[in-house]
Amino acid sequence: MSLYAVMGHPIGHSLSPQIHEAFGALTGLDVRYERREVRPEGLAEALSAFRVQDGRGANITVPLKGEAYALAARTSARAERARAVNTLAWQGDGWFGDNTDGAGLIRDLTVNHGWSLRARRVLLVGAGGAAQGIVGPLLDAGIAHLSISNRNPERARDLVASCRDARAGVADIGVTGACPFEIVINATAAGLSGALPVLPDVLFEGAIVYDLMYGPKARTFLSHARAHGAREVADGLGMLVEQAAEAFLLWWGVRPPTESVLAHLRAEVGAGS
Ligand code: NDP
Repeated sequence: MSLYAVMGHPIGHSLSPQIHEAFGALTGLDVRYERREVRPEGLAEALSAFRVQDGRGANITVPLKGEAYALAARTSARAERARAVNTLAWQGDGWFGDNTDGAGLIRDLTVNHGWSLRARRVLLVGAGGAAQGIVGPLLDAGIAHLSISNRNPERARDLVASCRDARAGVADIGVTGACPFEIVINATAAGLSGALPVLPDVLFEGAIVYDLMYGPKARTFLSHARAHGAREVADGLGMLVEQAAEAFLLWWGVRPPTESVLAHLRAEVGAGS
C-alpha cells in the first residue's frame, strides 16, 4: 500500500495526518499518511528511505521547503515562482515539486470567508517561506497593490524583487494618517513565541486582518488587531486545510470537500481570536 507523509522539524504538532485521513474517508480512498521528523539537510536521505516504503507523496513544512525545491527533479510554475516546495509527488523517476500554500490562502480568503481580493491594497507582514509561497497567488488574484514588511528589511526587499511586478513594493509602515491597507496578512512566526510583529496600531483600523498562524497561537495578533479597529479577523486554519486539499488533488486526482474537515479541526484546535 502506498504511503504519504508530512516532513519537517518539529513535526509532532502537525495536523496533516488527521486532515489527509479525513479526506480519504470522505472520498473513499485508502490513505496511509505519517509524520516524519526530518532535520535540515536530512531531506534527501529521508526521501530515499521513504521511497523504499513506496512513499508516493510528501507534504514539506518548516524548515525544509527550500531544500525540497532544490531536490525536486521537476517543479510546477507556482513552486518555481515561490522557489519553495511544500508538496512532493513521486513521478516514477523523480520528485515533482509543487507549492499549494498560495492557492490554499486564496481559497480560504475568497471562498470560505467570501472576501474579494480584487483591487484591494494588501499589507503582507513577513518574508519567510510561507510569504514566498503566497505573494504570486495574491498578485494573480487581482489585488491593486502588495506592500511587504519584514523585521529584517533586506528579506522584504528580496521578496519584492522576486515578484517582478510593479504592484509589489516594500511597505512604508511609518504611517500616521488613515490606514492605507484594506487587508493585512501576518505571515510571520512571531505568534509561536506569543510576540507581535512591530506595526503601528493605525494599520488595523477598518482592515480585514488574517494570520497564517491558527488557533491559540494566532490570538495575540488577532486580538490586538481587533482591539485596534480591525473590521474582520481570521486565523490560518482554513488555509491549512485548503492547501492540504490542493496536495490531495495532486496525489489522488480528486479535490476533497473541506467544510466538514475544517469544522471538525476548529472544534479541536479552538478559535483563533
Ligand atoms: P520562516 O521561518 O520561513 O519565516 C519566519 C518569518 O517570521 C520571517 O519573516 C521572520 O522575520 C518573521 N518573524 C519571526 N519572528 C518574528 C518576530 N518576533 N517579530 C517579527 N517577525 C518575526 O517561517 P514560514 O514563513 O514558513 O512560516 C511563518 C508562519 O506561517 C509560521 O508560523 C507557520 O506556522 C505559518 N504557516 C501557516 C500555514 C497555513 O497553512 N496556515 C502554511 C505555512 C506557514 P525575519 O526574516 O526578520 O527573521
